[in-house]
Amino acid sequence: MIPALLEALRTIVGDAHVLTHHHEPALDLTAWEQDWRRRVRGKALAVVRPGSTAEVAAVVKACAAAGTALVPQGGNTGLVVGGTPDDSGTQVVLALTRLNAVRAIDAANLTMTVEAGCILQNLQDAAAQAGLLFPLSLAAEGSCTIGGNLATNAGGTQVVRYGNARELCLGLEVVTAQGEVWEGLTGLRKDNTGYDLRDLFIGSEGTLGVITAATLKLYPQPAASLTAWAAVPSLAHAVTLLGLAHRQLGAGLTGFEVMGQFALSLVGKHMPQLRVPFLGDEAAPYCVLLENSDSESEAHARQRFEQLLETAFGQGCVGDAVVAENLSQAQQLWHVRESIPLAQAEEGLNVKHDVSIPVSRIPDFVAATDALLQREIPGVRLVNFGHLGDGNLHYNVQAPADGDAKAFLRDCEERVNMLVYESVAAFGGSISAEHGVGALKVDKLPHFKPAVALDMMRAIKRALDPQNLLNPGRVVVA
Ligand SMILES: Cc1cc2nc3c(=O)[nH]c(=O)nc-3n(C[C@H](O)[C@H](O)[C@H](O)COP(=O)(O)OP(=O)(O)OC[C@H]3O[C@@H](n4cnc5c(N)ncnc54)[C@H](O)[C@@H]3O)c2cc1C
Repeated sequence: MIPALLEALRTIVGDAHVLTHHHEPALDLTAWEQDWRRRVRGKALAVVRPGSTAEVAAVVKACAAAGTALVPQGGNTGLVVGGTPDDSGTQVVLALTRLNAVRAIDAANLTMTVEAGCILQNLQDAAAQAGLLFPLSLAAEGSCTIGGNLATNAGGTQVVRYGNARELCLGLEVVTAQGEVWEGLTGLRKDNTGYDLRDLFIGSEGTLGVITAATLKLYPQPAASLTAWAAVPSLAHAVTLLGLAHRQLGAGLTGFEVMGQFALSLVGKHMPQLRVPFLGDEAAPYCVLLENSDSESEAHARQRFEQLLETAFGQGCVGDAVVAENLSQAQQLWHVRESIPLAQAEEGLNVKHDVSIPVSRIPDFVAATDALLQREIPGVRLVNFGHLGDGNLHYNVQAPADGDAKAFLRDCEERVNMLVYESVAAFGGSISAEHGVGALKVDKLPHFKPAVALDMMRAIKRALDPQNLLNPGRVVVA
């Protein structure tokens, strides 16, 4: 049966695009079998790389006929073990990176129709070449694909103004679990003809269908974008500053990130070449990075930023602030923010969380959860930063400074996770704001999602994928 399936797949996509140990035992498939954080290494029956939607459909049909499970994969930058095969050696990785064409840009409709395997950065560039903006932006943009972004409903740094990947998508082309093609690339901003199938596939992490193309929203490019870095006396003051920024900058507010002093101190320690403003300033336990995009001019953007910061000083919610003088300075500030995860990795193993809480409750959530963790696991170090504008925190827990980080992870990871997630639930939050569920959090969902919601999710999965062939065991156990 297996050789017959592999033969069928070779006939569909060509010999060069079926990579398998059955044909070449020495073949190195690490890039597809191991997740980005190198936490898990699976074993694929084969990696199949179709070059068109018709080929994707034929591959899915052949696998469905053979009862073989498929794991869709884009850039393999996901952080919840959702895009790599399990270790059974029976699953086919459906790698979509050869579907990389920009099919059309419709400047008058402000849309772009692209294939799922396009690298995010290439799409930003394609939009810019047409004089327009595709605003989705995240640190993995040089290697993640738009199919993966949509399958995980990715967020990133511009959500406060433009929304998640979901808000940026007007239509999809999807290959169903039966190998049929749903052509839903409408490009319409209004369409109330029944259930929203597009929204069902966005964020489904490859468990309901294979996204092969999308029609995305484009925006006019701003005339100027300015970045400021402000020291704030507390997290509550950062939330007050966010409210002021919303009121005074309106739609100009395109980024609002928060960083705790300990997170910044790790950047200072492991990347001494970077200049971290207000590092070690005791009056500034948190710093905020703000971005203001303006449709008029740089002078206008600067003036509005200065007015905002003046109001904020007046109200005591900003201690000190700098506004970047030019693009290079702005990039340096963003670079500091984006270096926190790497600095954390340099410091040693840690437990990561990607949670969201209503913005108004974040200061109380952090105070309560910090105290809880310090009490339950003395010495843990809390690395707190994230997209405060979206109520999204990367509330990470580093092993005690003098402890064995490996042993800490082995003995405490599960306990730390449950303490943090219980606290998130008590504050009305979500245990996964951006990264999704994948295999990593699938066992947590029954604790933190209402039973009725889980029942509906299972019913949808059974209806669309009755053979349970698309990414089985991820998101929801059917
Ligand atoms: C350094 C770094 C920074 C990051 N920053 C952010 C951030 O700021 N915000 C954020 O939201 N995320 C962030 N992420 C995680 C984020 O989920 C991914 O970077 C990205 O969205 C996944 O795209 P990908 O092409 O790599 O997908 P993959 O990792 O290949 O797959 C992710 C999931 O989508 C499914 N999938 C992939 N392609 C398809 C398809 N065409 N059809 C159906 N299912 C598919 C897979 O089965 C898997 O479940 C970051 C990751 C890294 C490594």
